[in-house]
Amino acid sequence: MFFDLPDEAKALQESVRDFARSEVAPVAEHLDQTKSFPYEIVAKMGELGWMGIPFPEEVGGAGGTSLQYAIAVEELTRIDSSVAITLCAHTSLGTQPVYLFGSEDQKQRLMPDLCAGRKLGAFGLTEPEAGSDAGNVKTRATLDGGTWTIDGAKQFITNAGTDISGHVAITAVTGTDERGNKEVSNLIVENGTDGYEIGTAYRKMGWNASDTRPLSFTECQVPEENLLGPRGAGFKQFLHILDIGRIGVAAMGVGLAQGALDEALKYAKERQAFGQSISKFQAIQSKLADMATEIEAARLLTYKAAWEKDEGRNFTLTAAQAKLKTGRLAVRAAEEAVQIHGGYGYIEEYPVCRMYRDAKILTIGEGTDEVQQMVIARALGA
Ligand SMILES: Cc1cc2nc3c(=O)[nH]c(=O)nc-3n(C[C@H](O)[C@H](O)[C@H](O)COP(=O)(O)OP(=O)(O)OC[C@H]3O[C@@H](n4cnc5c(N)ncnc54)[C@H](O)[C@@H]3O)c2cc1C
Repeated sequence: MFFDLPDEAKALQESVRDFARSEVAPVAEHLDQTKSFPYEIVAKMGELGWMGIPFPEEVGGAGGTSLQYAIAVEELTRIDSSVAITLCAHTSLGTQPVYLFGSEDQKQRLMPDLCAGRKLGAFGLTEPEAGSDAGNVKTRATLDGGTWTIDGAKQFITNAGTDISGHVAITAVTGTDERGNKEVSNLIVENGTDGYEIGTAYRKMGWNASDTRPLSFTECQVPEENLLGPRGAGFKQFLHILDIGRIGVAAMGVGLAQGALDEALKYAKERQAFGQSISKFQAIQSKLADMATEIEAARLLTYKAAWEKDEGRNFTLTAAQAKLKTGRLAVRAAEEAVQIHGGYGYIEEYPVCRMYRDAKILTIGEGTDEVQQMVIARALGA
């Protein structure tokens, strides 16, 4: 067993940590309050090569590993979840489908701008009647004369409606297979395509500076070559994309919990009560100790999932376990951090207040806790 991070991962960790502290922390509260998308930060992260960390240099990526990617996501979330989810959804959900299933032509056309952060990618799986039950997709795409015509709706989609959004990869029913089952395929729809409408951004509990919108498709026509991979492979493809996405969201859970601990420890040392700093009270120390221990366990599980992916092993079980563990931890750690701040924790000037609101989605997005439990139980053979 070897627990030291590889040198490249350590170097990236330090760079992202510095960037998050110097460039993101000073504006995070303002972006959250004004619900402003972090364009300048995304542009800088693009220039640094961080919008395409796990993709090879030949397609415009940074040639990094999944472990490096997870560490970058963790360090960003330690400071701000909106910035982190923007990079995370762009990489795992928006860009991976093009890289993994796209044709050479699609990759050449889309990957360089995606990896440089000049364009953002989105992934449209969820629909009004298809969330956890993702197979219940109702959006339809019909092929006629070399053109797909798409009709349907998607909801809660990240990164689709910004000024730099380039495309959304959507799942659609494209027919019926020989056994009479739904044939599901994935298609690329580029922003600006006629019939592709991007709705008003949702008013959310958290992730306020991240872009989340409903999408609709009305007789929306895209060329036949916008199909991603073989026709009918959509179900298998999106399950794989969700597995990859869970590593990123698990890294967000570790980062948020670590950020909450950082803030709680700092505050506990400063705050005086009964003639001493509250960090000297055993009740506060127990909370800090539990948080630190749980975070370390969750981090190891998350890095293991990323490592398994990098080694080319099956990582479905570990990614689901990491996602389940870290989402719950983030919620609990944010709550404890608010508790340690007392009344100040309820006031927006303190980052733990935003962290508390940002944490909850980590038990819902990218598959709810109950869905992770189903995936884990299936892997156990239950
Ligand atoms: C801010 C935000 C960003 C998002 N970004 C994206 C995105 O970019 N792309 C995208 O495609 N989606 C995105 N989503 C959607 C997200 O992945 C879904 O909301 C999530 O998967 C849950 O689906 P649902 O909301 O339809 O809930 P439902 O599936 O309706 O679930 C409701 C409840 O029922 C439970 N449940 C459902 N089925 C079972 C079962 N079989 N056993 C036990 N319990 C069950 C669930 O766990 C949950 O508690 C985003 C959501 C949010 C809020």
